Amino acid sequence: MADHDGSETFDVVVVGGGPSGATAAADLAATGHRVLLLDKAGRIKPCGGAIPPRLIRDFAIPDGLLVARIRSARMVAPSARHVDMPVGDGFVGMVDREHFDPYLRQRAARAGAELRDGLFERISRDRPGLATVHYRSGKGGEEHHAQARLVIGADGATSTVGRAEIPGHARMRQVFAYHEIVRRPANAAHDGARCDVYYQGRLSPDFYAWIFPHGETVSVGTGSARKGFSLRGAIRDLRASTGLDACETIRREGAPLPLKPLRRWDNGRDVLLAGDAAGVVAPASGEGIYYAMLGGRLAAEAAKVFLATGDARALAGARKRFMRLHGRVFWILGMMQWVWYRSDALRERFVAMCKDRDVQQLTWDAYMNKELVRAKPAAHARIFFKDLAHLFRWVSP
Ligand SMILES: Cc1cc2nc3c(=O)[nH]c(=O)nc-3n(C[C@H](O)[C@H](O)[C@H](O)COP(=O)(O)OP(=O)(O)OC[C@H]3O[C@@H](n4cnc5c(N)ncnc54)[C@H](O)[C@@H]3O)c2cc1C
Repeated sequence: MADHDGSETFDVVVVGGGPSGATAAADLAATGHRVLLLDKAGRIKPCGGAIPPRLIRDFAIPDGLLVARIRSARMVAPSARHVDMPVGDGFVGMVDREHFDPYLRQRAARAGAELRDGLFERISRDRPGLATVHYRSGKGGEEHHAQARLVIGADGATSTVGRAEIPGHARMRQVFAYHEIVRRPANAAHDGARCDVYYQGRLSPDFYAWIFPHGETVSVGTGSARKGFSLRGAIRDLRASTGLDACETIRREGAPLPLKPLRRWDNGRDVLLAGDAAGVVAPASGEGIYYAMLGGRLAAEAAKVFLATGDARALAGARKRFMRLHGRVFWILGMMQWVWYRSDALRERFVAMCKDRDVQQLTWDAYMNKELVRAKPAAHARIFFKDLAHLFRWVSP
């Protein structure tokens, strides 16, 4: 909607059309709000693409977007011993972000959001109650601006919105993740329904490395926060030791993974962050797509209250609700990463612990459904004591 001075006014400008921003934009547009969804085109988000059934259900992901269905995970220890963890009922879905993200953006557009290829640059405030968003169309294109009562910053881990508007954003704790997309090997040894997870210091001194099948392709990746550690060198080694060095390389790419929710997601006035921009990737696992989409949904809910009441305190509701739902799991996963990912001796014990049926079941329950199963307090207690036993070496790996 153009004003007399030629600028347009929306209820909300969403910056970033990844899983988080596209979800926020779709939810707001579906309830009749005027939404501009800005996304800088031209880059496929580097991502392993693993998504849990809860995400597929809650966000109605069509079957056609799943390029593989994973039935088990192989945990590989520093000694090369491995433990297979069958998923049980159900599967872990695999998506290619090259198709997943455009689908989500188009879905937001179908719900009524105005989708534009634009690079967000800055916010200015010239009129009371309105933020002016300055952006460029296409690559290095013309400058434009649009006004809105609220800006949702869903522009990823290095969020320009977050850095400009939320104090402390630039110091967000991050791991850098890197992967290579390779052509699927033709040999029969390749299991297209199994994810391999490597807990080996040579492949990552503080996180893990992975081989995730994607149908016709495979993602081979690793992550680390350690400066000077060669992620490319680690992937060269992993590909060589698994025979994947013979496969054609399709893309090499990386991106930061924020592993701690920021203390504040809003500026108390007219900006709210969601997804990676707010720091919500799970520690230890690096899982971010589900949390980004949920963050987008909670941002949309908080935005609706803010737009209806004009009370900017409503914006804090997004973080409060997220932490109530997942704060405990993030804390547990943070502790897990801190305790078990520190040395090869500890990693060896961690993988050995995964042999335990209780550990396997609780891990999959928590991952698949995003709920800690309260009905099984005895299993929680057993795992707690087994954890301690492994940590203090009362059992051998
Ligand atoms: C190598 C790697 C592997 C991963 N594997 C998995 C996995 O297997 N499973 C999982 O759940 N998670 C995984 N993650 C994490 C997951 O990719 C992220 O958590 C998730 O993409 C976050 O979604 P988002 O919408 O918040 O941000 P993003 O997906 O980063 O989307 C941000 C969007 O904002 C746009 N943007 C950025 N700046 C601007 C700007 N200035 N103006 C306009 N638009 C802008 C970008 O183009 C992008 O579309 C992985 C991450 C990495 C790096």
